[in-house]
Amino acid sequence: MSKSRIFLSTPHMSEEGYEQFYVKDAFDKNWIAPLGENVDEFENELAKRVGIKSAAALSSGTAAIHLALMAAGVGENDVVFCQSLTFSATANPIIYQNATPVFIDSDEETWNMCPKALKEAFEKYPNVKAVIVVHLYGLSANIAEIKALCEEYDVTLIEDAAESLGSLYKGQQTGTFGDYGVFSFNGNKIITTSGGGMLVSNDEEKINKSRFWATQSRDNARYYQHSEIGYNYRLSNVLAGIGRGQLKVLDQRVKKKNEIYQFYKEDLSQIEDIGFMPENDFDKPNYWLSCITLKGEVKPLDIIEALEEENIEARHIWKPMHLQPFFENFDYIGGNVAEKLFESGICLPSDTKMKEEDLERVVKVIKNVLRKRNN
Ligand SMILES: *Cc1c(COP(=O)(O)O)cnc(C)c1O
Repeated sequence: MSKSRIFLSTPHMSEEGYEQFYVKDAFDKNWIAPLGENVDEFENELAKRVGIKSAAALSSGTAAIHLALMAAGVGENDVVFCQSLTFSATANPIIYQNATPVFIDSDEETWNMCPKALKEAFEKYPNVKAVIVVHLYGLSANIAEIKALCEEYDVTLIEDAAESLGSLYKGQQTGTFGDYGVFSFNGNKIITTSGGGMLVSNDEEKINKSRFWATQSRDNARYYQHSEIGYNYRLSNVLAGIGRGQLKVLDQRVKKKNEIYQFYKEDLSQIEDIGFMPENDFDKPNYWLSCITLKGEVKPLDIIEALEEENIEARHIWKPMHLQPFFENFDYIGGNVAEKLFESGICLPSDTKMKEEDLERVVKVIKNVLRKRNN
């Protein structure tokens, strides 16, 4: 008997067919070429939704981080502070710019960048050029304290909000506090264009400049002339159509992700060996992925493998960048919070198409593993 696969997080198009409406519109107008109305409107609609002045639609969240670093003037040998507990896409663009990452630990209260460690880093590297903070799994970082420190040291703040579209810090959308914010519409994110990203800022000129870099830095001339290095980073008009449709169901997706998390929490919270994601008064997460931590003998891999045997997808929490073979020679500031989260954490299936019986399948496997080990 083969059981149907339960996924971590997969694309979920609207039941109403909004995405197909905008994609069809692009076809009807033969606007398949990059740029066009869907791109412009997706930028406007997203900027309005998150409450920021301007936005540039791009081919990926990674491209958005890269352009944010360029806009911040980060270049060769500049130091950039980067949250260690994250996906490699946060850190890779620092290397694209031939700059030097310094990784910063998380704190237990938010799982994101620890302001104390950040302060220590500022004291060690007073000439740092930019800071990249992440709102992991939709949890808000302690953005007020981090922003205050960046202002004190007069350093550009970039928020990697790739996982936190729809998450609010004190009622304000994450990704709109720093000088630049980054969203991703990769296939596993809370809304998707199959692949895509957005760079947002209240600095309209910098966003205009980013669009210029993203379209091969073509000078305003009658022939192809380039005074600066350019990239091919724009989002296509067809994919932007998917994004416009998805934006209409963002609230529905946040609601469902929240219900998934609450289900796990209610069902598993009586088990002593299981910890949950941090809860903070300032934070209203989008619960992109529901994560738990294990405190006893059972290790994440035991649960991940047991789930896999039942055709259920689960994953480890991100492995910190300072422990990655590629990045391990760069400096790291902090203790072992990120490392401990990696060693104890699991991302549980958080797919918004899951039904209650799917969630029951998941918790049953987890409880079985814990019961067997503890007997
Ligand atoms: C997904 C993700 C990115 C990269 O976004 P892409 O659109 O896949 O390039 C960056 N940072 C974090 C934290 C992510 O989860």
